[in-house]
Amino acid sequence: MSFISKIFGGNENNFNEVRIDREVLDSVIYYSNEAFPNEFLALFDGKIIDEILYITGLIFLPGETSSTGAVFHSDMVPPTLKYWGSVHCHPSPSALPSEADLNTFSKHGMFHMIVCLPYSLETFKAYDKYGSPVSYTVGNYGYLADEDDDFFDEEDVLQEGESFEPGLLDEEDDDFFRTDEKDENNEIPISWNRKY
Ligand code: ZN
Repeated sequence: MSFISKIFGGNENNFNEVRIDREVLDSVIYYSNEAFPNEFLALFDGKIIDEILYITGLIFLPGETSSTGAVFHSDMVPPTLKYWGSVHCHPSPSALPSEADLNTFSKHGMFHMIVCLPYSLETFKAYDKYGSPVSYTVGNYGYLADEDDDFFDEEDVLQEGESFEPGLLDEEDDDFFRTDEKDENNEIPISWNRKY
């Protein structure tokens, strides 16, 4: 096991390298500029192939921009949603994670990014779940995105009015999706917008 896979945790979600589709980062830059001077936050969609994590898309959370920071409302994340981490912008020249960011990193995935002003491919910084800097490669990996994913995947996202049924959850993914605040009757009264 490599040093990095130890950092990212030892299970079937092992990876020791991260590759990000350039269009994903371009989208983050676009939406960060749109949100300015507020923050923008999204989750990372992707997959692991041969112990390489490919980030191939963004999953947008509703209402995740504000003037007080991109607070991560974990009660808005459906328990069956699969994601690898988060990305958000800082409308400042620093891409260092705040205390709140570190808290989000520790709870919501294994790979996180922050982009700071001026928003560009050069001002992204990447972190593991402990807030330690990690390296990554940018390239054209959009072809790896699931073609059948469209915008909604019933296995990923609960529809409005539905409640969480533990039977829907794959056992192997159980830990990955668990959040502290969730109760079993939690409903997700929101719409989802999945890109790529
Ligand atoms: Zn932040």
